[in-house]
Amino acid sequence: MTTRRAFLASSALAATAQSGFRWPDGKRLAVSLTWDDARLSQIDIGLRLLDELKLKGTFYLSLPAMHKRIDGWKEMIRQGHEIGNHSTAHACTGNYRFTRALEDFTIEEMARDIDNATADIEATLGVKTRQFAYPCGQKFIGRGRQTRSYIPLIADRFDTGRGYLDEMPNYPLTCDLSQLMGTHFDGIDFPAMKAILEKAARDGRWVVFAGHEIGKSAPQTTDVEALKQLADYLKDPAHGIWVDTVGRIAKHVNTSRA
Ligand SMILES: [Zn+2]
Repeated sequence: MTTRRAFLASSALAATAQSGFRWPDGKRLAVSLTWDDARLSQIDIGLRLLDELKLKGTFYLSLPAMHKRIDGWKEMIRQGHEIGNHSTAHACTGNYRFTRALEDFTIEEMARDIDNATADIEATLGVKTRQFAYPCGQKFIGRGRQTRSYIPLIADRFDTGRGYLDEMPNYPLTCDLSQLMGTHFDGIDFPAMKAILEKAARDGRWVVFAGHEIGKSAPQTTDVEALKQLADYLKDPAHGIWVDTVGRIAKHVNTSRA
């Protein structure tokens, strides 16, 4: 069988498998809007913008950044946004050179780091985080033969764990909620966002957009103008899109395929 034929056969199989899964109210796909790192622009620009656009997001907070806008995060919660956990140390591979390297962590240290963030967010904002985003989308500690995945830590503690810069949005029937795919959101214009959604609609996927700053288009910034156009597109009933927080969509995925 040629590669192309094998691909088509597997696509047909996937379409058949997905027939056992339904999004609510006849929707064709699901979308979550998420931002990481407790960046100040999420409060200073995002809070009012999302209120105007009537969109609810999931915000993965890291420490100590959260402490710079405590009242802002409390207002986010009042407006119905979801607060997730993005760890304390924000550890990534040492190649990034901005934090202590994941290669040097033990699994016990990673557990303490995550539990510390959970406790601090709960003590400060009064919410227990049920969703996690892997800093830099990386899911390991150690190096070489001593490398271990820390996904089981997340599966023990949270309903979901989200990655970053993943190529493929989530296929609800088969995706692992502890390693949800996170789709690039920063620095792209509305046509690029729309293209992602049109492709995802073909086989009923869940797109979890993952951004950082909210402002004028830049490499680590979700563009305000693109976001406004996206909001209109998401709300048009003709497109059949369920937009909601990661927690609410994950709950539907989890119960509907059980
Ligand atoms: Zn981050």
